[in-house]
Amino acid sequence: MQNYSNKALWRTYIFIVCFSLIAAGTFLNLKWSDFKKDATSQQSYSNKLIANSIANNLDKYEVFLNLVGSRLQGLLKENKTSEAKNLIEELMLSNKALAGIGLANQNGELILTSARLDHQKLINLKSNPETSDTFEAVLKSDFLIMGRTYYMPNIQEWVVPLRLALKNEAGLVNGVMTVGLKFNVLEETWLGNSLPSHLKLLVLRNDLYRQFASFVSPEEYQEWIAKPLPEQRFKQLLDMIYQQTGKTIDQIKSDGKLVSYSGPDKDGFMNAQTVSYNRKYNYYIVTGTSYDVLYEKLALPISWLIFFCITFNVGLFILFRRNIHTHSQAKVSLQYQVEHDPLTKLPNRRYLLNHYQEWSKTNSGEHSLLYLDLNNFKTCNDIHGHSTGDKILCATAARLVEFFKGSLCARQGGDEFIVLCPVTNQSVLLDYCEDFANALAKTIHVEHLEFSIYASMGISFAPCDGHTLDELLRKADMAMYEAKRKSRSIGFYSEELEAKTKQASEIERELSTALKNNELTVFYQPQVDAYSYHVLGIEALLRWNNPTLGFVPPDVFIPVAESSGLINEIGRFVMEQALKDGYEVSKVCNLKHKLRVSVNLSVSQLFNDDFLEHLQGLLAQHQGQEVTFMLEVTESLFIDDLIRAKNILEQVKFCGVFISLDDFGTGYSSLSVLSKLPINELKIDRSFVNDILTDEHDWLLAKSIIYLCKSLSIPVVAEGVENKAQADRLAAHGCDVFQGYYFAKPMPKEQLIEFLNNKKDLNQA
Ligand code: C2E
Ligand code: CA
Ligand code: CA
Repeated sequence: MQNYSNKALWRTYIFIVCFSLIAAGTFLNLKWSDFKKDATSQQSYSNKLIANSIANNLDKYEVFLNLVGSRLQGLLKENKTSEAKNLIEELMLSNKALAGIGLANQNGELILTSARLDHQKLINLKSNPETSDTFEAVLKSDFLIMGRTYYMPNIQEWVVPLRLALKNEAGLVNGVMTVGLKFNVLEETWLGNSLPSHLKLLVLRNDLYRQFASFVSPEEYQEWIAKPLPEQRFKQLLDMIYQQTGKTIDQIKSDGKLVSYSGPDKDGFMNAQTVSYNRKYNYYIVTGTSYDVLYEKLALPISWLIFFCITFNVGLFILFRRNIHTHSQAKVSLQYQVEHDPLTKLPNRRYLLNHYQEWSKTNSGEHSLLYLDLNNFKTCNDIHGHSTGDKILCATAARLVEFFKGSLCARQGGDEFIVLCPVTNQSVLLDYCEDFANALAKTIHVEHLEFSIYASMGISFAPCDGHTLDELLRKADMAMYEAKRKSRSIGFYSEELEAKTKQASEIERELSTALKNNELTVFYQPQVDAYSYHVLGIEALLRWNNPTLGFVPPDVFIPVAESSGLINEIGRFVMEQALKDGYEVSKVCNLKHKLRVSVNLSVSQLFNDDFLEHLQGLLAQHQGQEVTFMLEVTESLFIDDLIRAKNILEQVKFCGVFISLDDFGTGYSSLSVLSKLPINELKIDRSFVNDILTDEHDWLLAKSIIYLCKSLSIPVVAEGVENKAQADRLAAHGCDVFQGYYFAKPMPKEQLIEFLNNKKDLNQA
């Protein structure tokens, strides 16, 4: 769970990081577009400026050539050749941009040149391949024509020739005026000073010769100026422009508008470029700005953005990590709360479920499981209040943890605790648990009260009793329950126990309908006077014959009836039946004394809320009848709640009912409490009587019980007397009443009547 939500937080963090990166990217992209747009408009502006500047410059030369040409022709006509030459030199001196001036006739022969060009007089402009194209063109044109830029070795300069046809009054060409402009001063003239330094300019002639290129070094002139732009490249460029702007070359040429696009520079790097066309002089003006310039501009925003991005994301990371840390801590404490009992601070059942496998693995899957349940905790809670109960639970938890070091102690809930213990040897564990029971029983003080804690423990072993926690718990619980039932402190799980439990549930199922189906009958066993052997009374003993289970002895089904609660209904049936039968028997047999009818009473019957009410109703029904009613209770009654039991018994006695303490000697109650109890009779358990002849210890015990009862004037009944020797020995020591097979076995009412009518036989026994 923890990992899952941490992951979710980290995922959110990654999402924000990604989002911030995308936002930064978008911002940069927008900035880039902005710069590009700026660069484009700046470029358009520059392109327009340059185009105007070149066109103006050429217009100026057009006028200049016309004027100078006419003047020179006039001087020549007047045979003032030297004056004409002087004029040329003067002009050369006054205009530093001029590399030379020449006047040719219509046949291409140079008839007058500036001094530096003297040697070129031999060149015929019409036949020279480098000049023929433009010379032919100039003859046909009314405007100035730019010739190809070429290298003049004698002045060691690259020169741009400008030619203009001179016409007579009739409009016929009578000469061609030429000036050469120095290539290296053109940049200043054409680009001017106001334009950005990174701006590149290319003036490309219609015939693809590059008239001017600001971005090439003199070493590259031969390659760039002397040769035309390969047609293939020009086509590629046009395709590119068309793709980006949708303009064809004709459109560029015809509408004279600027077209902006991204194109490669001479080194193949992309540039923002703008092209325009001059229709008068027939050249393209291409301006370009390297994207590097834009990148440089972008560097600052990028740096800031990176700075912000890193700061933001690192800050966010720290924030998230701290949050996740706090979150994890909160979760750890929450998990602690979920997995621990708030009262005792012990791990709870959920903790066991979550961590059992892990714990078991560290013990190689071999361990024991103790299921511990406090005795009488509910009563203690009810009487002394919950805060006292809580303190007792805390003391138990503390003692558990202290004693079972190296084990895992947990609180299952209520007054139940679980211990996962590495000890797997049964006898070692038994000793260990007995020691613990003693340690637990040590007095604790809560406020001004003193308590001794007793518990029942059930134990199962892994892996032999089970591999899962549930199975081990179920089996230990079963063993604990059995221990409790037998009033023992420790019980181990066994397969027989399982079978017994299974049988118990089967019995419970069948027993629930037994009354309704008339499967239950009451038998009676006579009790006789130890000296005269006269029948004094009878004990009602329940019998159950079930069609599926057959005959089930009361030792087996009574405990099931007790644990399932069926005993109340069944017990009432026995009491009613026994009283009814007792009355009938005493009447039929015409007995001289009151017949005593003893009925066994379970603890839960006595503690049942409407027990007294029912008893009183029953007694009222049989009032005045020749029967004495006696209830047999066992010692276990006083273990659970002595005071409460004593109270109820006193009320029972008050109703005129006698009380017999059954099975004496098998439980825990000390002889000293006997005097305090409202009992009319004590029955020595048959297990002692059975062995009084063979076991000295048992005889001693039986004897001391008899003596004690004598001193307290409580009559003693010995049950389970099976032979005369036993009867004689008991009688010799003062036992008052006998009950046992030697005299009679439990029998149905009819047989009892017969038995009582023949009681003479009994006296002879
Ligand atoms: P218990 O109250 O101790 O009853 C006496 C038992 O000893 C009876 O067993 C009886 O048959 C048996 N017994 C009597 N004399 C001799 C003898 O000489 N030798 C031997 N071996 N046994 C003798 P039963 O009838 O099997 O009852 C067993 C137990 O079931 C009773 O023990 C009593 O605790 C319980 N029980 C029987 N009926 C009822 C009933 O209606 N209500 C309650 N709550 N418990 C009953
Ligand atoms: Ca009895
Ligand atoms: Ca008994």
